[in-house]
Amino acid sequence: MNKLLQQAEQICQERGVRFTAQRRQVLEIVCAARRPLGAYEILDAMRKSSGRTAPPTVYRALEFLKAQGLIHKLESLHAFVGCNHPDHPHASQFLICSECGGIDELEDEQVSQSLRQASRASGFTPQRRIVELIGTCESCSRGQSDKRQ
Ligand SMILES: [Zn+2]
Ligand SMILES: [Zn+2]
Repeated sequence: MNKLLQQAEQICQERGVRFTAQRRQVLEIVCAARRPLGAYEILDAMRKSSGRTAPPTVYRALEFLKAQGLIHKLESLHAFVGCNHPDHPHASQFLICSECGGIDELEDEQVSQSLRQASRASGFTPQRRIVELIGTCESCSRGQSDKRQ
C-alpha cells in the first residue's frame, strides 16, 4: 500500500477528522497516478470504479485532502498530486517535467526562506507558498522515456 495512504489514515485520526471512504478513494486515485491529475480525470476514475459520482463529491474530497496537506494543487496544470511529506505543514517546490509529465516535490527551507524575506520586503503576504518549475526531468534529459505512460 502507498505510504501516503497509511500516513493519511494516521494523520486524520490524530487530527480527529474523518477519512471517509470517498476521501480515501480520491487519495488512492491521486497516488496511483504517476503524473498530476485534474479533477475531471479523478471524477472519471471514481465513476469507473464505483459508478455514479457527482462532481461536488470529488471537489469536496479534494478540498479536504488539500486542507489536510495530503495533496497539493499545481495551479499551472490545474491538477493534483499526493504530498511527499504530509506529516508537517510546509512550503514546497515542484519540478514539473513538460515531456513526461512527471513531478518531484522538494521541500527546500532555504528557498522558502528567501521567498518569505523577499515577499515581506515588498509588503506582500503570500497565501499559498508553492513554487512550480517547469522543465525537463533527469530521465527525459537523458533521452529516456520510462516515465511516459
Ligand atoms: Zn507536500
Ligand atoms: Zn520527464
